[in-house]
Amino acid sequence: MRLADLKEKQLDPESAAYIIIALLILVCSFIGIATRPMGYLAFLWPANAALLAFFLRFPKLNNKGGWLGAFSAFMFADLVTGGPFLQSLFLTLSNLLSTIVSLFCIRYFKINYKYYNTGYTFIHLFGIFAFAGCLASAAFAVLTLVNVPDSFITLENMQIDFFLWWTGEMVNYIIILPLVLAFPRIKDIHYFLNNRRKKTYEVSYFFPLIAIAICVSLTHIFSGPGALIYPMAALIWAALTYRIFTISIINMLVLLFTYNSLTQVYLEHDALINSTTFISLRIGLFMLALAPLILCIISQNRNELYKHVLYLANYDTLTRTMNRHFFFQEGESLLEQTKKLPFSLIMLDIDHFKRLNDEYGHHVGDTVLQQFAESVKSNLRSYDLFARIGGEEFVILMWDIDHDEANAIAERIRYVVENTPIYLDYGRTVNITVSLGITHQIAPQKVDLQHLINIADQALYRAKHLGRNQVVLAS
Ligand code: GH3
Ligand code: MG
Ligand code: MG
Repeated sequence: MRLADLKEKQLDPESAAYIIIALLILVCSFIGIATRPMGYLAFLWPANAALLAFFLRFPKLNNKGGWLGAFSAFMFADLVTGGPFLQSLFLTLSNLLSTIVSLFCIRYFKINYKYYNTGYTFIHLFGIFAFAGCLASAAFAVLTLVNVPDSFITLENMQIDFFLWWTGEMVNYIIILPLVLAFPRIKDIHYFLNNRRKKTYEVSYFFPLIAIAICVSLTHIFSGPGALIYPMAALIWAALTYRIFTISIINMLVLLFTYNSLTQVYLEHDALINSTTFISLRIGLFMLALAPLILCIISQNRNELYKHVLYLANYDTLTRTMNRHFFFQEGESLLEQTKKLPFSLIMLDIDHFKRLNDEYGHHVGDTVLQQFAESVKSNLRSYDLFARIGGEEFVILMWDIDHDEANAIAERIRYVVENTPIYLDYGRTVNITVSLGITHQIAPQKVDLQHLINIADQALYRAKHLGRNQVVLAS
């Protein structure tokens, strides 16, 4: 029995959610409590953002067990570190409120958060986190805690504490949420680990990272209010270079280091420091982190769109083979580079395709074209060029290949096509055949691909005349 089966047998989803979320909140709360500086609210309070992030990333945890786990862990962490009961209770409720309100708004505005990295979704999400979730929890915290006797929030500091809580939460959210949402899936991690050795990075790939490290170090050397934007340009550079998860990690480190260096400056000059300084600093940090995240998403989307458009421009979408234009472009440059190497060009034309169209309909003809292309591809090497250059006419360019071997491949394609039934609907099948014309050459000094195609085409023409379903070698 596998370990996973065992777990499933013993734990129902609610108990599992209880344990996972309680552990998560406990760890996060203790990290938060450890960063509470001298009577201020904690700077880093990752628990609320982590709870929301886990509920978004793993919706199965969002059940009664998960919520109960969060409640007990928040209460436990606060009580055990000496908080009075009522204060702990209202702090806990405030913490939970940010997740409740955020989830409610995401559902209300029907935000498809799974696609947080497309279009404007990310901006909408952070609008909700910052101006609904964080705001609600800050407001609830100060309004309730001010009535709790001996709580750390009093009527005089209420306003400041409200803003400290709100802006602090915004910084927490911008650090934690992208990290969890963009954390690679298990199969991506496997893929990365398996391909790590094959993939080599140019030194220049690390330049943005080095630039960020230098800029952040500068905040410690020339400390002052301008330090907040020292890393800005390097972050923009990084956003155009790395993927969103890497940017999330970089953001977290930059924020922690910059916050640290700036608070040190202000703590050294006692006269400069008051709570407004921290509020201003936190808003600044939030903005500093938001910019590269948005830019990274825009740049990734743009790159993907570019790849997609390039594919549409160069490939035939029906058969997923190269189109004529791309075949000529690639073929000619390939033959220029591989002077004096033997290569073979094969023209293929499906036999009696018009009859098949007339008998079964055009859509069946399309299916046949797709499956035909698949079986041809499976007989080629990954670097052979294979293109659709007309309705049911295809061409293959194989280079650095023995002529006998090329003949054998052509014959194998003919054989496989003849003997592979093509499955249609209702269990019907149809068989097709293909005629091939082949020419062998040694790459000349100046290549005229069209001329080669004409030669192979004449051979193909003879194959048709000789009765189809055969390979003919150009004379
Ligand atoms: P032969 O054995 O001599 O090659 O006969 P054939 O019928 O295959 O050749 P012909 O050139 O007369 O007919 C080709 C047919 O291919 C005509 C056209 O309707 C069909 N065709 C072209 N492009 C497509 C396509 O994208 N989808 C489908 N279903 N049919 C196509
Ligand atoms: Mg044909
Ligand atoms: Mg034809």
